Amino acid sequence: MATKQFQAESKRLLEMMINSIYSQKEIFLRELISNASDAIDKMYYKALTDDSLTFNKDDYYIKVSADKDNRTLKIEDTGIGMTEEELESNLGVIAKSGSLAFKNENEIKDGHDIIGQFGVGFYSAFMVADVVTVYTKSANSDQAYKWESNGADGYTIEPADKEKVGTEVFIKLRENTEDENYDEYLEEHRLNSIIKKYSDYIRYPIKMDVTVQ
Ligand code: ADP
Ligand code: MG
Repeated sequence: MATKQFQAESKRLLEMMINSIYSQKEIFLRELISNASDAIDKMYYKALTDDSLTFNKDDYYIKVSADKDNRTLKIEDTGIGMTEEELESNLGVIAKSGSLAFKNENEIKDGHDIIGQFGVGFYSAFMVADVVTVYTKSANSDQAYKWESNGADGYTIEPADKEKVGTEVFIKLRENTEDENYDEYLEEHRLNSIIKKYSDYIRYPIKMDVTVQ
């Protein structure tokens, strides 16, 4: 399977995320939950205009799961999902809304403030992840896909099995170092407090599931 390279601009943002010494790495969860919520919004609007679809509010949710054994976090949504082309164009290039802020070299040098002020988007996952894996199935496609990247070496896309329309983002947490403890993102109370702090406004239920063994 061929590994594709990120666009040059995305690469710079990724490098910034990978080498981030930013103290509020926790905001990655805000970004992933906001993407999940956006995806459910899109599903909602699609249902408004498509008579063959109905939107039952109860079927739409975001779920954060922590697997302590595998040091993995999963952010799952029942939103619109992505086609293969959308995976390519949305996750292979820099986030559209965040990109303006990063076009300015000076701002990149002073990146710490940017992270606090703007949505930095999906790539912020690489502040805490060694590997990010996305399983997604679009409401407009029967085939699901897997996207995977360690940030530095590009990304791969391949067909995958996923029954439900929506997206699962898996974060393989980085190994702990003397200065940084990533295990905290597997603790229910920590996840709860991050969600309360940044994602209280989200209109869809956010479920939580922490598995120990
Ligand atoms: P932004 O949210 O500002 O557009 P992001 O970097 O956060 O930028 O996300 C880039 C794009 O990837 C989104 O615009 C969206 O099209 C797509 N995307 C990311 N996460 C999801 C998701 N959970 N479901 C569907 N699409 C997603
Ligand atoms: Mg976003």
